[in-house]
Amino acid sequence: MITQAVQDYLKIIYKLGRDGKRVNTNAIAARMNVSQASVTGMLKKLSELKLSSYKRYYGVELTDSGKKIALEIIRHHRLLELYLAEALGYSWDQVHEEAEKLEHHISEEFEERMAEFLGHPEFDPHGAPIPTKNGDILERELLSLTTAETGSSVRVIQVSDGDAEKLRYLAALGIFPGTEVEIIQKGPFGGPLQIRVAGSECHLAENLTDQIFIAAQPPDDQKEVN
Ligand SMILES: [Zn+2]
Repeated sequence: MITQAVQDYLKIIYKLGRDGKRVNTNAIAARMNVSQASVTGMLKKLSELKLSSYKRYYGVELTDSGKKIALEIIRHHRLLELYLAEALGYSWDQVHEEAEKLEHHISEEFEERMAEFLGHPEFDPHGAPIPTKNGDILERELLSLTTAETGSSVRVIQVSDGDAEKLRYLAALGIFPGTEVEIIQKGPFGGPLQIRVAGSECHLAENLTDQIFIAAQPPDDQKEVN
């Protein structure tokens, strides 16, 4: 049976694999905040349900049906986040937690109506791509802001949605997907990043810049401007 727990595991396995990380019990346990023993038990169940398999030297891999369910739940989650923000006035730091619960319960009809209402959006409030109804997703190659070079100007593409406090802080600084950020200076040994955003300067710690993502390659139009 496809329980909520099964859906959550599929979602995490999909996301870990997408980030190019080795998907093993260790990584899954850390990400889900559960013991390795419970992960092992669940992986056994997933492979019995033919939703995932284990590949030597690679780790856990979703089957096509596992991936389909993962993307369906991610579609629910991201549509819900945008719907909560646009239709119900939730701020971007409040939507994730609410969507985590609701994503398991909405019908296909509700999903479709949200998509319709929102004009079939491509991105959620944090800049993450929303999978289509058919399970296609626009996965872009991203780097964290931590890797940006001194003197460069970069555009924020996406931010992590999990930490409400960090999102509130970023909003206060005016940092959202689409915001242009200038890297003034990088502190040594993982020190803070001094940036200019919307005309003011500030320092961001690495555990914050690690949660902010920029394009791995600057888009063509941006290259021409500079
Ligand atoms: Zn979220």
